[in-house]
Amino acid sequence: MRKIDKIIVHCTAGNQSDTAADIVRYHTNPKSRGGCGWKTAGYHYIIEANGKIVNTVPEEKISNGCYGHNGNSINVCYVGGVDTSKSYLPPIDNRTPEQKKSLLALLKILRKKYPEARIYGHRDFAKKACPSFDAKTEYAGL
Ligand SMILES: [Zn+2]
Repeated sequence: MRKIDKIIVHCTAGNQSDTAADIVRYHTNPKSRGGCGWKTAGYHYIIEANGKIVNTVPEEKISNGCYGHNGNSINVCYVGGVDTSKSYLPPIDNRTPEQKKSLLALLKILRKKYPEARIYGHRDFAKKACPSFDAKTEYAGL
C-alpha cells in the first residue's frame, strides 16, 4: 500500500460537457494525436457535470495530477473550472450542485480511508488557479 498523506482536488480546466473518458483519452493519447502522452491519467477520480464519479486510476497506483506530490496523493478532479465563453478561459468555480454533492461524498470516504491525509487544492502546490476555489478551506472540517 502507498502511504497517502494528501488528497488533492483539481478541475479539468475545460468544457463542463467533457466526460471522464474524454479526459483520460486526452492525458494518455500520444502527443502526435493531440494528447499529453502520459502513461497514466492525471486523476484517480473524475466527477462529471451530472455528478457521476468515475474511478479512472486505481488508488494503489500513482496518478499524474500534481508535480512533486503524486507519490503520496490521491488526485480528485471535477469537470469544468474555467469560463469557456471567454477565449482566455478564466478560472471560475462552476461546480454543478451534483458535482458539489459527489465531491463532498467522495472526499468524506477518502478521509475515512486515509485518516492521515489532508485535503488540498492543486493551487496549494503550484502557481495555478486549479481547482478554481479554495478546497483547503472549504473542506477543512472533513
Ligand atoms: Zn490541477
